[in-house]
Amino acid sequence: NRTYVVTGSASGIGETTARLLRKRGARVIGIDLRDADVEADLSTAEGRQSAAAAAIELAGGTVDAVIACAGISAPIAKTLSVNYFGVVELLEALRPALVRSSAPRAAVVSSMASLQQSPPELVEAALSGDEAATLAIAEQLTAQGPREAYQVYPASKRALSRWVRRRSISPEWAGAGIPLNAVAPGTVLTPMTEQLLATEEGRAMVDAAVPMPLNSHQPPESIANLLIWLTGVENTHLAGQVIYDDGGADATLRGDDI
Ligand code: NAD
Repeated sequence: NRTYVVTGSASGIGETTARLLRKRGARVIGIDLRDADVEADLSTAEGRQSAAAAAIELAGGTVDAVIACAGISAPIAKTLSVNYFGVVELLEALRPALVRSSAPRAAVVSSMASLQQSPPELVEAALSGDEAATLAIAEQLTAQGPREAYQVYPASKRALSRWVRRRSISPEWAGAGIPLNAVAPGTVLTPMTEQLLATEEGRAMVDAAVPMPLNSHQPPESIANLLIWLTGVENTHLAGQVIYDDGGADATLRGDDI
């Protein structure tokens, strides 16, 4: 039986992924703020390190796959700490336990929002690894007003997609035999989007930003099943990809520009 570490396991995509994996007989160690095997705050460096240590201990030293779903969409600087640093630092801290597996895999949840406008200097600050500098830029941005503050979430996901792109082909990941990929959803029906989609106004706003010609808003299973395939033994060569599983939103917005 494979052992999976799933972050954001208490809600939405992470909860669905953990449930489907357990149904298939896998062992799942969930990480979340609450209602999880490992309760930790991934917005802090200490939270990431203690979460990784606790998960590795529960796993008995070897982790077969990591699926990072935890994230927030608030237009605040902290979103970069959870969505970017909370993912990449946790993955790097779990890597030594992945290397011990005979078929290690990792996948993260980015977003089609990574394609939306955000300040390049904020994205590159995150990729430089300097969390304090990144938060300082994000705080300047959020102070400018709601339109600018909205760009924090796209920036967090663009940085994450780019990190996967760069890091997946490094000696530490591809070189160690670990496929590392990202899934970029469109609008998923989870607690994250519930309030926004509850009003006609909110739905119109979301649908203008995220056009989904194929089947419209998606259930969390549509993402969970892809995450499970990416982190299963069948995936031997898919690496460094950001897979837009988004009802055609990326194809609509980017068209030929790939
Ligand atoms: P959700 O709110 O249902 O679940 C997110 C989970 O992450 C929650 O259980 C929450 O407690 C946990 N979490 C938040 N901050 C944390 C922290 N500091 N430490 C530990 N855990 C923390 O949301 P969801 O829709 O399932 O989102 C999952 C992922 O999918 C996120 O990364 C989100 O950005 C991404 N995503 C969602 C959508 C969507 O439409 N719902 C679209 C694209 C991408």
